[in-house]
Amino acid sequence: MFTSCSSSTGLFSRRDFLGRASQWSALTAYQLLPLPALAESFAADSRVAQAPIVDKGFASVRKIGDGLYATISDTSKGLQTMCNGGFLFGKDAALLIEGFVSPAGASFHHETLRTLSQGPIMGALDTHYHFDHVTGNAFYGANGISLWAHAAVSKRIFDSYGAMQGMDKAAFLRPLEGRVKNARSEVARKHAAELVATMGNIFGAVNSTVLGFPNRPLDPAKLPVKLDLGGLTALVETYPGHSGTDLIVRVPEQNVVYAGDLLFNHMYPVTFDEQATVSGWRSTLKTFLSWDKDTIFVPGHGQIAGRDGVQLFADLFDDIAAQAEKMYQSGVPAEDAADQYVVPDKFKDVAIFAWHLSIGATILKLYKEWGAK
Ligand SMILES: [Zn+2]
Repeated sequence: MFTSCSSSTGLFSRRDFLGRASQWSALTAYQLLPLPALAESFAADSRVAQAPIVDKGFASVRKIGDGLYATISDTSKGLQTMCNGGFLFGKDAALLIEGFVSPAGASFHHETLRTLSQGPIMGALDTHYHFDHVTGNAFYGANGISLWAHAAVSKRIFDSYGAMQGMDKAAFLRPLEGRVKNARSEVARKHAAELVATMGNIFGAVNSTVLGFPNRPLDPAKLPVKLDLGGLTALVETYPGHSGTDLIVRVPEQNVVYAGDLLFNHMYPVTFDEQATVSGWRSTLKTFLSWDKDTIFVPGHGQIAGRDGVQLFADLFDDIAAQAEKMYQSGVPAEDAADQYVVPDKFKDVAIFAWHLSIGATILKLYKEWGAK
């Protein structure tokens, strides 16, 4: 759907088209951060190839195990994929992970798999319903690749992004702009303005896509499921935390986990989702930390991680919770506390997707959890 028809005749002008094409021009700080290099701890790990098999700038694909590959995005170089994903294949079949933010991103991913394996593709799996993991889904539909996801994903894509399509952008952003205008402090104003820019970008991504819906819903009550790809066994599991629809793909025999957005590497947790749960997420991280100490994690965003990446992520939750609890005890109202967290020096280089979608949202959720007690 077009969103900014400027002529009264209802015809779409060239300006509308250019407007759509440049939706991503208001880049937020997070999108400009270059991807960190692969951690040195992987230099001695025989599972991990030291060089990617292909590097397109916006994403590269690296071997991380026998039949296991990670697709890692670098948003500072382009936004075709935006999130991470990967693919795995055995003697009989392959599984692709993530729909990415655009069909071009999903296409690159699929094309790379095809340079390594021409066998049947069991499906492509969305780790959850968020736009940056699904707005490239149409590529799979167009190519007859079945699309797997948590059973709630289709409805949540429809409710969140179907509703956004065809909406007037100015009307969509107006309430958020009101927050900027009414901000009670400079820092609150800054965070509110960042939210407007980020939501404008999300609106742009959603409105420049044909939504693709999973046709292979996985009932969370029936998980985990075991996938036999031929000499390679993968488990699809669900855990609470980020979106209420989160799946991971785990290969226990090789200690490799495709974690989706249940793990962000070197980035504050994104907890804005109405079904995100801070306590649930922190317990999921305990589970991740209980696995073999050499487990490789492909996070939803950021570089490939080891156990230390999971530990850092848990530490970020702990720090937000510690600061929030002090504010809660001394009676700081939730809306004020959401802006007042101070990033400690040791976390200064940790990325923040958008303050109110991550740190602010985490504080509000913690306040709710405590208030409910
Ligand atoms: Zn997400």
